[in-house]
Amino acid sequence: MPFSMIVLAKQVPDTANITGEAMKPDGTVNRGALPAIFNPEDLNALEMALAIRDRHGGHVTVMSMGPPAAAEVLREALFRGADRVLLLTHRLFAGADTLATSYALARAVATAGVPDIILCGRQAIDGDTAQVGPQVAEKLGIPQATYVDDVVDLEEGGIVVSRSTDRGVHILRMPLPALLTVVSTANNPRPPSARRVMAFKKARTRNELMGSTQDYLEIDQLESQGLLIEEWGVDIIGAEPGRCGIGGSPTKVKKVASVVISPREVKRVEPTQQGISSLVDELIAEHILS
Ligand SMILES: Cc1cc2nc3c(=O)[nH]c(=O)nc-3n(C[C@H](O)[C@H](O)[C@H](O)COP(=O)(O)OP(=O)(O)OC[C@H]3O[C@@H](n4cnc5c(N)ncnc54)[C@H](O)[C@@H]3O)c2cc1C
Repeated sequence: MPFSMIVLAKQVPDTANITGEAMKPDGTVNRGALPAIFNPEDLNALEMALAIRDRHGGHVTVMSMGPPAAAEVLREALFRGADRVLLLTHRLFAGADTLATSYALARAVATAGVPDIILCGRQAIDGDTAQVGPQVAEKLGIPQATYVDDVVDLEEGGIVVSRSTDRGVHILRMPLPALLTVVSTANNPRPPSARRVMAFKKARTRNELMGSTQDYLEIDQLESQGLLIEEWGVDIIGAEPGRCGIGGSPTKVKKVASVVISPREVKRVEPTQQGISSLVDELIAEHILS
C-alpha cells in the first residue's frame, strides 16, 4: 500500500561557518550574514521518507517555512528525490518562536491534507529546541514518536518504530496518521542524483523570478514544466496573523553569545597506578565522580 508523507525541513545557518554578526539587535537571527544549509537531521527525515516510498510506494512532499532564500533547501530536496515541494513564506512568519512556527506548519499541513506520516528532524542546529515536531503533532491531534532511528513495520493504518534513548531502545506501535522525529543515526541520506539535478536545477519560486526581464514568460514556462516552486502565505493556510511570527511568539531570544569554557587550572597526573588512584580520590572528594 502506498503512503503519503510530508517532511518538514528547515534552512539553518551553517553554525560551523559563522561569519559576520550572527544576531540582529532585536534578538532574531541575522540570516543574511550566515551561510545557509539543509538542517542535517531533516536530511535523515527525508531519507526515511524516500526509503518508505522505495519499499511501499507513495508520495513525498517537503515543506519549509522561511524567507524566500529557503527555496534553496527545496531545490536540494527535489535533487534528492522529493515529489513535491512547498515554501511557507510571508513577512508575518518572520521571527517566530517554536509556538508560532509549529502553528504555521500545522496549518500548512492541514491545508495540504494530513498525510499518513509526517517526518521531522529531531532538532534544528540553530534553535536546538527539538520542540517543533511534537508541537505540530499536538496541534494536529495525531500521535508522535521522537528520536526515531528505524521503521520496524508499516502497514495500512499502523506503524512500528524503534527509538533510541539513553535508557535503551523503545519499540513503539502507533496508528496512522502519525508524526516521527528522526535522529542522525537512522540512516545515510542519499546524495542528490545527477539526473534529478539536471531535471530540477531550473526550479524557482515566483518570488525568485520577479524582476527578471521576462518574468511572466518564465513563470508560465516553469509552471508548464512543473518547475514552479509553490509559495504559501498566511492567507492560503488560513492562519490567524496574530499567532504568526514574532507577534505570535511569547518567547523572544534576548541574546546569543558563544560560551567559551576555559580551564581554571591545569594539573599533571603521573601515568602511574598511584597517580591515577590519587586523581580518582580527588574527583570523588569533589563529588565529580561518585
Ligand atoms: C539560539 C536560538 C535559541 C532559540 N531558543 C528558542 C526557545 O528557547 N524557544 C523558542 O520557542 N524558540 C527559540 N528559538 C527560535 C526557534 O529557533 C524558532 O522558533 C525555530 O523556527 C524553531 O525552533 P528550532 O530551531 O528549535 O527547531 P526544532 O524544534 O529543533 O526543529 C525540529 C524540527 O522541526 C522542523 N522545523 C523546525 N523549524 C522549521 C521550519 N521553519 N520549516 C520547516 N520545518 C521546521 C524540522 O524538521 C526540524 O528538524 C531560538 C532561536 C535561536 C537561533
